[in-house]
Amino acid sequence: MRHDSEENCLACDLTSGVRPLPGGRVYETSAWVVEPCIGPLPVGTLIVKPFRHCLSISDLQPDEADQLGPLLSLTSHAITELTNCDQVYVCLWSHAEWTPSHIHFVLQPAWNSQQDAHERPGPFMQETMFRSGEPPNDDEVATFCERARALLSSIEEERK
Ligand SMILES: [Zn+2]
Repeated sequence: MRHDSEENCLACDLTSGVRPLPGGRVYETSAWVVEPCIGPLPVGTLIVKPFRHCLSISDLQPDEADQLGPLLSLTSHAITELTNCDQVYVCLWSHAEWTPSHIHFVLQPAWNSQQDAHERPGPFMQETMFRSGEPPNDDEVATFCERARALLSSIEEERK
């Protein structure tokens, strides 16, 4: 089974406003949108996904593919600057309940100091966070998104 339709697509609903998105849209290009993550990952975690309901990286259109690398780099730069993290994890699964769904990269800040609370980094730490199921604080997400919007638009201005 594949989520071929935009109907009942969480990613589409969050972008269109059908479902509320705490913190709001952070950035966009003509093909991609950057939004805060609504799952139980640290404040500063952002989602990068195509506006178009697209289920696989292999289905990206040329303009979508062209914009992807620079946008992942730019967004990671902003996360690093604003959270003072040691690494930004960039991952894409989009296979909830074994069903291909609207692709979305998760860009998650990670700090070396997290080793005090987590035995292993990377997907192991993510798994622990998902198990805990604690969503990030809405106010903190909103504050981060405001700062991220300001930083990304100032970088955009500089590059003009
Ligand atoms: Zn969708």
